[in-house]
Amino acid sequence: MHFPFRPHILTVFVITVLASATLFGTAFAPSALARQSDADRLIEAALADSAAWERLAYLTDTFGPRFSGSENLERAMDWIVGEMKADGLENVRKEPVMVPHWVRGREELLLLEPHKRSLDILGLGGSPGTGPGGLVGDVLVVGSFDELEARAGEARGKIVLFNVPFTSYGSTVVYRSQGAIRAAEKGAIASLIRSVGPFSMYTPHTGNSAYDDAVPRIPHASITMEDAMMMQRMQDRGQRIRVRLRMEDYWLPDAESANVVAEITGSEFPDEIVVLGGHIDSWDVGTGAMDDAGGCVAAWEALRLMKELGLRPKRTVRVVMWTNEENGLRGANAYRDMHREELHNHILAMESDAGVFTPRGFGVTGSDAAFDVLTQIGKLLEPIGSGTITRGGGGADIGPIMNEGVPGMGLNVDGSRYFWYHHTKADYVDKLDPWDVGLSVATMAVMAHAVADLPQRLPR
Ligand SMILES: [Zn+2]
Repeated sequence: MHFPFRPHILTVFVITVLASATLFGTAFAPSALARQSDADRLIEAALADSAAWERLAYLTDTFGPRFSGSENLERAMDWIVGEMKADGLENVRKEPVMVPHWVRGREELLLLEPHKRSLDILGLGGSPGTGPGGLVGDVLVVGSFDELEARAGEARGKIVLFNVPFTSYGSTVVYRSQGAIRAAEKGAIASLIRSVGPFSMYTPHTGNSAYDDAVPRIPHASITMEDAMMMQRMQDRGQRIRVRLRMEDYWLPDAESANVVAEITGSEFPDEIVVLGGHIDSWDVGTGAMDDAGGCVAAWEALRLMKELGLRPKRTVRVVMWTNEENGLRGANAYRDMHREELHNHILAMESDAGVFTPRGFGVTGSDAAFDVLTQIGKLLEPIGSGTITRGGGGADIGPIMNEGVPGMGLNVDGSRYFWYHHTKADYVDKLDPWDVGLSVATMAVMAHAVADLPQRLPR
């Protein structure tokens, strides 16, 4: 695909670069000025063509969704390793990790009353199947855990539907992760949730769910926003809602997988490491282009551009594509365990896992001293508007090493559309703009390079 280059943006960009370079000339030491020129080269290279978007499209079109335990995931990683070697990256390798292996079978929800129809669903990760005959029951719709408590006497033998409107991901996702446990506590035979998202074109969203050995493991699936609101209206009118739920989901033994690692070794302090990456696994629907192939490719392309431009920083820059973020976090935990000896030399960990939409900056978890340095470095990104450093942030995959004291940061992007597609069949590369992907590459590259090239290590 030809890159839709935008001359007007480039003009603004060049003028801003020149203006900011002049401003920095008075405020920064000469070494910092050198960094500005490195940053400008990385930005220009990232925006010169659509290489990152093309690579993302090739990866997601060729290998498809990359669910833990799937052949797709392993084939995608083998291809990435070959490409990284061809790029001239250093110490390219797979670090083995065993991952859980849940399999989605056929899934079906038939509305029996008040009218007969098949409704689209997605089972939630970890759900057991229903058995071949499925489950038939009346639906009890509740709007919160509190309402379930209040109506606990009505839940026994029924299928509980949590019709909870999306507010924020963090506050709404608890119905996905905890719904099956809470419904089972009240004697429900299955639980359904309204998909966790702010907008729907009849798209169910999958995602992981938890179980508790203290209560029965009941089948757990998501339905669309449209059907959840319809069932709410039916119940409010006093109509009986009767359904048949059939799910053939099941578990297999743990499977072999890996974290993919590639580096540029530092020129002065090779043992000190800046890590950047995302998770290479995805859900089993759609292609996981924004969650999180985009984050992986942004980090990978950032490293490739440093290599191509001959920008070898003082410290090692390491790209990691973690496996099994979605339904286990085994890759992230394995990385912490395998690299425990060198965690004290992990200078910074950066993750992109919110989609590679227009980048704004980074959210940082670390000391005030680190925050101040990162805020200064953020100024290198002012020309492309992605240098805003805010407090609080990180990522699921870098969480385990952040808990061991490694400063962490997450790429902040325009989040207005991410949860429309998150964990749905619609997560395809066409939802991402090549220009935004290039900006995300530039943002990751400039930050990682500058931190790795600081005269002194980033304070903890
Ligand atoms: Zn993700």
